[in-house]
Amino acid sequence: MAVTEPASAPSAVPEEAQRGILRRQSLRESAARTYARSLPIVPVRARGITIEGADGRRYLDCLSGAGTLALGHNHPVVLEAVRKVIDSGAPLHVLDLATPVKDAFTTELFATLPQEFADDARIQFCGPAGTDAVEAALKLVRTATGRQGLLAFTGAYHGMTAGALGASGGATDVRVTRLPFPQDYRCPFGVGGDRGAELGARWTEALLDDPKGGVPTPAGMILEPVQGEGGVIPAPDAWMRRMRRITEERGIPLVVDEVQTGVGRTGTFWAVERSGVRPDVMVLSKAIGGSLPLAVVVYRSALDVWQPGAHAGTFRGNQLAMAAGAATLAFVRENRLADHAATLGARMLGRLQGLAAAHPSIGDVRGRGLMIGVELVDPADSTPDALVPPPAPALAAAVQRACLDRGLIVELGGRHSAVVRLLPPLTLTDDQAEAVLDRFADALAAAEGAAVQGSP
Ligand code: PMP
Repeated sequence: MAVTEPASAPSAVPEEAQRGILRRQSLRESAARTYARSLPIVPVRARGITIEGADGRRYLDCLSGAGTLALGHNHPVVLEAVRKVIDSGAPLHVLDLATPVKDAFTTELFATLPQEFADDARIQFCGPAGTDAVEAALKLVRTATGRQGLLAFTGAYHGMTAGALGASGGATDVRVTRLPFPQDYRCPFGVGGDRGAELGARWTEALLDDPKGGVPTPAGMILEPVQGEGGVIPAPDAWMRRMRRITEERGIPLVVDEVQTGVGRTGTFWAVERSGVRPDVMVLSKAIGGSLPLAVVVYRSALDVWQPGAHAGTFRGNQLAMAAGAATLAFVRENRLADHAATLGARMLGRLQGLAAAHPSIGDVRGRGLMIGVELVDPADSTPDALVPPPAPALAAAVQRACLDRGLIVELGGRHSAVVRLLPPLTLTDDQAEAVLDRFADALAAAEGAAVQGSP
């Protein structure tokens, strides 16, 4: 399929009207707004990977609603599922009551989960954000174990409500013990690879076993199989298995946050499948709602000892999200989109590695499936004893702007906001992948050129 270049459509909202919308947004909306700052566009239509702005320009969307849109925007199977519920006269909001729509969603979700896990699983429908499902998971393991402490990792992101935020790398919570997440490029032990991951695992083990380590047996360990917001950092399979062994041997429930990695994104339906790890708890959101808000916790039945109402919430019965989600899960499964993500993602990584060879400002290219990150660095600013150059957040922001100018929407992430992130829909075609990478390469060259011109 040919990729449409940014172009003006006849239906465009007049330039003045668009500027008015953006101006009113900046006047009326919160200072805490996020994506709206770096992506000053006014989307009015979208299909697949393409978003059309009010000005008629078209963009290739590699943000995908922060990794939500497994099938891209407005996929026909999603629209059909939503229309079917609306046309059926079914209630759209039912708290946590049973409905045929919910029953079908749960059946489809359980069919996708690792069988051994699904066979003994319970599901809790949560408030519709990933962060609420994280809260539920933490409450669940604290209730089940009677303990309070939590093991979480550097660079983690689990959400913005108090408990989830406390488990995230940018925050402090006295109940959370922070452990090193394995990273090749900026390995805290300076060695990277399997050895770096091994040292992190040893630290974890030693800390838990040291009677004077200051870490009494915690209620759980929470981890992302591939850190997303932390800068697209995949956990090695052996390390994942090691974390499973460490937690299992000590009776510590393992909570795997698959909010971003789930539904085929990383090349397997669930990211844990790759390492074969069977978690005690899985936190799921984003793509499971097929672009509408939905979040659940799925866990081993033995943990199901909390009381009725232990994690309540008004909006736990979004029927449209369940229908859209069931359609998405089925489409990803039937069309083997996880395999497609693995193949196409590997090809994109290869091409980006080629680009890195010609651009010293690319420090690292990494990812798994269609969850890809390009870390930008400043080689000129490197100190003699630094193992790798420092991150270049200003260049990353310039690349993001240059991408937008070329009709490509990308996100920034990583500890220093210096990682350009690509999260395209899993329906991405080869031609679209090429167009994304062409625009990215062009944007990088332009941003580098501007940085050179602007330097003293
Ligand atoms: N966990 C992970 C791994 C995430 O990536 C996110 C969102 N980026 C969350 C939890 C929180 O989800 P939400 O923004 O829907 O609260």
